[in-house]
Amino acid sequence: MRCPICTGELVDVRIRDIGDVTASLLWQMHAGRCLEHGWFQAEFISKPPREIFPVNRPGGIAREVNVDGLAIYAFPTIWDSMDSRLQVDPLDPRYWAVDWDKLKLSASASRA
Ligand SMILES: [Zn+2]
Repeated sequence: MRCPICTGELVDVRIRDIGDVTASLLWQMHAGRCLEHGWFQAEFISKPPREIFPVNRPGGIAREVNVDGLAIYAFPTIWDSMDSRLQVDPLDPRYWAVDWDKLKLSASASRA
């Protein structure tokens, strides 16, 4: 996972198992800190929505971040917009890239 704002490498990365890992279910929480933009976390589970949340600390509460004047509480990922029947590697960082089109749509919709 990378910083959803600057795509920088995250430091202090923590991975926490948050439940039993069943046959095909990966169930983990990943958190990491961008030196500039703070903590982010995501739950690595095999069900949508796949979103990255800005948080005040690992396992903490969501915080608001401002990007281009938009108040954002969650970053939808490319993966979230993909066909959910596709089998992907949940640890492949490509799928955790932020879907900015979707983000801007939902942000402007909630403002209207
Ligand atoms: Zn950053």
